[in-house]
Amino acid sequence: LHRNAGEPEFHQAAREVLESLGRVVARKPEYSDEALIERICEPERQIIFRVPWIDDNNQVQINRGFRVQFNSALGPYKGGIRFHPSVNVGIIKFLGFEQTFKNALTGLPIGGGKGGSDFDPKGRSDREIMRFCQSFMVELHRHIGEYVDVPAGDIGVGAREIGYMFGMYKRLNNRFEAGVLTGKGLVYGGSRARKEATGFGTAFFLRSMLETRGADPEGMRCVVSGSGNVAIYAMEKIISFGGKVVACSDSAGYIVDENGIDLSLVKQIKEEKRGRISEYAALRGDGCHYVEGGSIWDVPCDVALPCATQNELNGSNAKVLVENGVKAVAEGANMPCTPEAVRLFQDANVLFAPGKAANAGGVATSALEMQQNASRDSWSFAQTESRLEEIMTNIHASCHETAEEYGVPGDYVLGANIAGFVRVADAMRAMGVI
Ligand code: NDP
Repeated sequence: LHRNAGEPEFHQAAREVLESLGRVVARKPEYSDEALIERICEPERQIIFRVPWIDDNNQVQINRGFRVQFNSALGPYKGGIRFHPSVNVGIIKFLGFEQTFKNALTGLPIGGGKGGSDFDPKGRSDREIMRFCQSFMVELHRHIGEYVDVPAGDIGVGAREIGYMFGMYKRLNNRFEAGVLTGKGLVYGGSRARKEATGFGTAFFLRSMLETRGADPEGMRCVVSGSGNVAIYAMEKIISFGGKVVACSDSAGYIVDENGIDLSLVKQIKEEKRGRISEYAALRGDGCHYVEGGSIWDVPCDVALPCATQNELNGSNAKVLVENGVKAVAEGANMPCTPEAVRLFQDANVLFAPGKAANAGGVATSALEMQQNASRDSWSFAQTESRLEEIMTNIHASCHETAEEYGVPGDYVLGANIAGFVRVADAMRAMGVI
């Protein structure tokens, strides 16, 4: 603990994985040899840097940039970049740690990393965003590369920001190295279905999980927190499965629409106008209302998909969801449920999918983008989506089977942690003490 003081989110993520590993080590003691577990918990490298930039009022602003290169046993470091005022080294470390096991679960050749900045994009002009992204890349470029570390988007970083960062990387290196970043625009090397991949993947995982109980998403009442990239495309796929999404949110409040969320209106407000979810209620009219603040988890549902941020769903929220008869919870965000919430779901026999399994579709499709870039190819939407679906089905099967193998059927947390760990651990053991 003293080594990672002031990093509660990292402790939380590490504790959850370590709690699952007891069963592996009891059965296969070689996994605790040569400080393997201690090495897995220590990032290979952490970079912290100054990001100076000039705002529209000609004032100099300073932010802090981070890249945590956690583990490269399975491939180049891979993980998103987050721009949010809450970002600090502990948050990026927890995300990088989770990413390592998530990436292993995809079965694709990618290591784990994460990056970001405490920069707050809210209310900033397009020019300010561009100048910030360029300054961020002026430092980051020396630490990344298609065989070294391949960042992507996350909270506050979408195609616009990736475009500005890619432009600056290309200029600094005088090289069109498409595979250095993923989540790129389609015209310069992006992959079809990448934007949709995380949310779609979460819905695919949910469907597989429900299947184990002879159920499916059709007719289910769903609540999805957030209204960003992951939330929007999770809603889209759930709706296409015949589910009814009745609520979504942003950091200021949530909307409830008993007619079922009109996704094209959400997209118009969030993707085109970069507006607030409160605008939805005013435009939609009858049957819909906006609640400022409050908890979206008070809205009764069969399926809850937390798709906003870490620790957004706590023990008391979980209690309400269970009392209201929730049947399944799948984490679209990273670690959105607190440990107490997870325990309550599992004790109540609610199907629960941890983020490192349920939201792995985004990074998996990023790895598919890298494949397309390496072969200078561009796949169709249908081809990419069917690969994504296959990968999510395999991740589900691997978590499910691992949980059974270790004597806790239906425990996807344990299944995901062990299946991801074993893959990283086997590669590290083969490479000696590094
Ligand atoms: P976006 O920035 O597109 O959207 C984030 C959404 O969550 C917004 O609606 C935002 O509201 C809301 N939100 C953010 N912080 C808070 C907060 N503190 N309290 C309440 N709401 C909040 O991000 P993404 O959709 O890309 O990411 C969402 C989650 O999914 C994150 O945990 C991310 O790590 C995870 N994830 C993302 C992947 C991807 O491919 N993008 C891949 C795998 C995981 P507001 O606009 O008001 O801030």
